[in-house]
Amino acid sequence: MDKRLTKYALADVPRYTSYPTAVQFENDFAPETWVGWLGQLDEDASLSVYVHIPFCKKMCWYCGCHTTIPNTYDRAARYTQRLLKEIEQTTPLLNGPKGRVTHFHFGGGTPTYLREEDLAAIVEKVRELFGFAEGAEIAIEMDPRTFSREKAFALAEMGFNRASFGVQDFNARVQELVNRIQPYDMVADSVAWLHEAGITSVNFDLMYGLPGQTVDTVIETAKQAAGLRPDRIAVFGYAHVPWFKKHQKMIRDEDLPGIEQRYHQAMAINETLSANGYTAIGLDHYARNDDSMAAALHAGTLRRNFQGYTVDPADALIGFGCSAISSLPTGFAQSARDMAKWATRIEEGQLAIDRGLKLSDEDRMRGEIIEKLMCFLRANPRAIAEQHGFDAALLDESYEKLQPLVADGLCQVADNGEVIVPDEMRLFVRTVCLAFDAYYQPKPQRHAKAV
Ligand code: SF4
Repeated sequence: MDKRLTKYALADVPRYTSYPTAVQFENDFAPETWVGWLGQLDEDASLSVYVHIPFCKKMCWYCGCHTTIPNTYDRAARYTQRLLKEIEQTTPLLNGPKGRVTHFHFGGGTPTYLREEDLAAIVEKVRELFGFAEGAEIAIEMDPRTFSREKAFALAEMGFNRASFGVQDFNARVQELVNRIQPYDMVADSVAWLHEAGITSVNFDLMYGLPGQTVDTVIETAKQAAGLRPDRIAVFGYAHVPWFKKHQKMIRDEDLPGIEQRYHQAMAINETLSANGYTAIGLDHYARNDDSMAAALHAGTLRRNFQGYTVDPADALIGFGCSAISSLPTGFAQSARDMAKWATRIEEGQLAIDRGLKLSDEDRMRGEIIEKLMCFLRANPRAIAEQHGFDAALLDESYEKLQPLVADGLCQVADNGEVIVPDEMRLFVRTVCLAFDAYYQPKPQRHAKAV
């Protein structure tokens, strides 16, 4: 890695799945504000629904998700009942006809931890109260270690048409070091069962920076993953934050690759996937050249939301479950992250929202600049500011902040103000976005490293 890049690679940067980022959400946010926003939403607004299932069978040492390992299934059964209640409590707050849900996503945790009858009850509740638009995407994150042919058919029967797997790395030693044993054949069988059941849209997650990984292991994994032809592959850098995620203490510092290695691993995965029929998307996604996400990139319609890159054009995202984040044109809201607090609120018939943020006009303008940079590696901030009714001079300070990045090759600035991140600098696109973030305060251990 060019020595000039090291300081950028080591810097903490937000993921920019929203702007402002969740760090800016206010803790004294009143649920009534959220109720008002829902009521103001256009009657014909398209909707995206997210359901969070915070349970897993076994902890992966690298995990950064909001999840728990319950001793018995009872907790998950009670959680399901409360989720159904939360959906029932929220639906009457929305105006407009049913049938506007274009995307429905189960995330976690491991949504397939739920028994089939519980999963089906949630899908049915959303179908009954919200209704799916024709051709809606109904997606679920799943774990190949607890998957079966029967489950694949059961998911298809419920209406799921996309599945995401955490693959991470196929190397046996790496799997052992992260407490997630799932050999290649297990993943290959899961993909085959899904296809047989008619769920033909498949996503994989891969990781770099895990203990025991080398450039060779990640290349091998990327080749094997590409060989299974998933539609999309997301590639995340492992964020080692053991002071925040205690189970990560099971990962020994001496087994972790250094920053140089992490950079070379990320670049090696990029080259391998690009050479195997995948289009690089934004910071960390890859889509098969014939996939709709690659088409959205080329058509300029790609979006980024709390689930990452998406082709979902929905106007509003409504999240259910503990810690779920919702996004409306007016602002963001997050349900209680503490499961007991979330459960009490639902039991008492209240909304579980306890953090949020109203968007200002300037937030929307900066948010569009950052989203465009994250999606397309290029944006014209001056033009976007003017489209939003601002004097472009408001961004003079941001352009000044770009100067050292331009000098170090992270981006270019054209005469008309367009900011362009070269392909080979995509890993640093968030560093470029920082220049347009009016809230960012460098604070150690708040965000993950850029690489
Ligand atoms: S399966 Fe996913 S959510 Fe569950 S512990 Fe492993 S990484 Fe975390």
